[in-house]
Amino acid sequence: MTAALDAIHARIAAAARAAGRDPAAVTLVAVSKQQPPEAVAGALAAGHRVFGENRVQEAQARWTPLRPQHPDLHLRLIGPLQSNKAPEAVALFDAIDSVDRPKLARALADAVQKAGRAPQVLVQVNTGEEPQKAGVLPQDADAFIAEVRAVYGLPLAGLMCIPPVDEEPAMHFALLAQIAARNGLPELSMGMSGDFETAIRFGATMVRVGSALFGAR
Ligand SMILES: *Cc1c(COP(=O)(O)O)cnc(C)c1O
Repeated sequence: MTAALDAIHARIAAAARAAGRDPAAVTLVAVSKQQPPEAVAGALAAGHRVFGENRVQEAQARWTPLRPQHPDLHLRLIGPLQSNKAPEAVALFDAIDSVDRPKLARALADAVQKAGRAPQVLVQVNTGEEPQKAGVLPQDADAFIAEVRAVYGLPLAGLMCIPPVDEEPAMHFALLAQIAARNGLPELSMGMSGDFETAIRFGATMVRVGSALFGAR
């Protein structure tokens, strides 16, 4: 696992330098969903601490026992969240990257109040305007971002997107970067195993890498 992590870090660093960016400005989010416990144990043993999961229950089962041994763990929810799971998500995750509607923002704000613990949040943007995909539409993003900040008071740090599988991702990354810039948001979670180098060229500050790191799910 150390070699696999080193290889991804080297690719991230090369992509950052090629774009005139500091490699340290790009965080590797290791996407551990559906991976066997050995894979995660290997990444932890190699010193990796930032992980992404897409389901609350799966993440709870995996990480609750590991937390006490790894107080510096940083867990990000990168999958869709149902409002009724907001309290569990707030209790477990250090960041929730899929905030995309007022009902969820309200549920998170309530959960934060009760828990006295506020994970960082990202707003997910459906840059491809795909009906089956989560995320706020690009034309509604500015208003929703303002609402997340002013009405719900959540600690909003940036944006996340998942481009359509059958399209050139570059234009989607560029669009996300543009929306973030005009809203003064520093964090951009974009890029997966197949396209993280492109995402870094367009300003990604977090890349979410699963299969290229751990192998196929
Ligand atoms: C599964 C997943 C990833 C990782 O995908 P890979 O192609 O395996 O790197 C990244 N982001 C999200 C939102 C995912 O659900």
